[in-house]
Amino acid sequence: MKKRLFLIALCSITMTLTASFLYYKNNLSSEHPVKAAAIAGQQDSTGHKHPEEAAPAFPVVSSPVITNPESLLVLVNKQRTLSADYTPKTLIRPNVEFSFGKKKADQALMRPETAASLEKMFAAAKQDGFELLAVSGYRSYNHQQSLFNTYINEYGKDKAEQFSAPPGASEHQTGLAVDITARSAKFQLDLCFAETPEGKWVAAHAHEYGFIVRYQKGKTGITGYQYEPWHIRYVGNPYATYLYNNKLTLEEVMYAKAEQ
Ligand SMILES: [Zn+2]
Repeated sequence: MKKRLFLIALCSITMTLTASFLYYKNNLSSEHPVKAAAIAGQQDSTGHKHPEEAAPAFPVVSSPVITNPESLLVLVNKQRTLSADYTPKTLIRPNVEFSFGKKKADQALMRPETAASLEKMFAAAKQDGFELLAVSGYRSYNHQQSLFNTYINEYGKDKAEQFSAPPGASEHQTGLAVDITARSAKFQLDLCFAETPEGKWVAAHAHEYGFIVRYQKGKTGITGYQYEPWHIRYVGNPYATYLYNNKLTLEEVMYAKAEQ
């Protein structure tokens, strides 16, 4: 008798738990209509059809103030800058080759998500016969400030702004950006990287590992930076693949549209 009561109790607990889980699951999907539509591949909450590929739920940005610096999708540019005291919570050194060898340096550090994906990407490139090297990952606000000042002294403010970020406006401060190169680009961060076999491999495969080539050719007016085939930014997937397939920048998918 006791055993029977116990079984009945066990049964009802299991049923309650299952019901709660289903309730939670259903509510979760209705709270995320964009994501739900992406899964269904049909239409989003506004009724727009996505016959090709539905956009994953990118955050919509309507303010120049960054409130999500730890987000893997944080948008940092010349209009949206990080504060001087922002440092990512965790920074690690990935197990990849660096252009400066084994030397200890802040620029070898990056967020764990960036590091893990970079290791996978470099390993995959190697399997395909291409050797990549990392040059620069994390850069502090202060480091960016001194770099920027050096460039201003050397080239003048206008020129310096075309290729270098003012402090707070560099993605390197997030620990999600990495500059990479190859022997065939003479270990430099140069436009010629795009023409090397390694640079072509990166352009074609980075998204598979959650990276985007952040500053694309022809998008300077949108990103505020000239074409940089060596600068990759981790955003994760499905985001990176969506941006790659649709030739879009983070600005184009995140800024709130004027007509909305
Ligand atoms: Zn860079």
